[in-house]
Amino acid sequence: MRIDQILKNKRTLSFEVFPPQKAETGTEKLFETIRELKKLRTDFISVTYGASGSDVRNAAEIAGLIKSEGIEPIAHITGGPSTPGEIDAVAQKLKEYGVENVLALRGDKPMVNDGNYCKYFKHATDLQEYLKKYGFTMGAACYPEGHPECESLYADLVNLKKKEECGAKFFISQIFYDNAYYYRLVSEARRIGISSPIIPGIMPITNPKNIARIKSMCGSTIPIELRNMLEIYSGNPSLVREAGINYAVYQIMDLIAKGAPGIHLCIMNHADIAIEIYERLNNFFNELF
Ligand code: FAD
Repeated sequence: MRIDQILKNKRTLSFEVFPPQKAETGTEKLFETIRELKKLRTDFISVTYGASGSDVRNAAEIAGLIKSEGIEPIAHITGGPSTPGEIDAVAQKLKEYGVENVLALRGDKPMVNDGNYCKYFKHATDLQEYLKKYGFTMGAACYPEGHPECESLYADLVNLKKKEECGAKFFISQIFYDNAYYYRLVSEARRIGISSPIIPGIMPITNPKNIARIKSMCGSTIPIELRNMLEIYSGNPSLVREAGINYAVYQIMDLIAKGAPGIHLCIMNHADIAIEIYERLNNFFNELF
């Protein structure tokens, strides 16, 4: 089913998973995770493409398997590192598996660019144009704190509008830890005429070692209260986990209260984190999703 249609009827709960680095050993474990997520009120699961060092070769298969489990998948596709032929191959596979939704992305530029990166698809919008012939329902990424390469938040918003004009029917946001950034993005986006739903991306920090990684990969600001808590409890992994999950629960409650169209949870393939959040917010999910 098309995700934009789901969003017209209800608030969505969705999860992001990434394909294992080694398909031979990791796929079954990922499937255990997906089966656990199925027990929650999951509206869709997104499958990353090349993120976190995952193997792009089986991303389409994983999206297909999610579909065969009866959950709606959305396959991320990155144009930056790809040739048109590679995009065609992935798109055709997704079509074979009956995948209807894709998240069209540029991908992160490599540290050293040999000149081939973004050779064919400079921006997500170029990939969106190319993918139109396949008839997918397309979503795209947005950045509550602005994309790290962009000269200003306003310039980033203008580019976001181009994504909508190019056919993006919904947006999934970069992760953030201060909801004020998300509210600012939504109100500024509406002000310049972007009307598509903007789904907030939430990733609980369950290990203080992840802070540096989140900052370097996503550029997300970690508020001082959260940083302090994680540092104070850093000697006790179970307290760190508890604090990180509680913080995410607080963010989610606030986002729901203020009308977010859905919640997209990045759980780093850990179903236990999804289950714990779900159980703590059981009444919210039952009544408001
Ligand atoms: P773009 O939209 O091309 O934006 C990149 C920069 O160019 C921005 O500064 C933007 O303002 C500017 N820009 C955009 N369009 C135009 C235009 N038409 N003209 C001029 N400037 C423009 N990476 C992966 O490798 N695999 C994944 O699976 C993955 N999943 C992600 C999921 C989400 C929800 C998010 C938020 C990010 C994800 N990423 C993933 C990371 C993403 O690839 C990077 O953030 C990347 O740096 C930008 O991707 P984009 O699609 O937003 O690029």
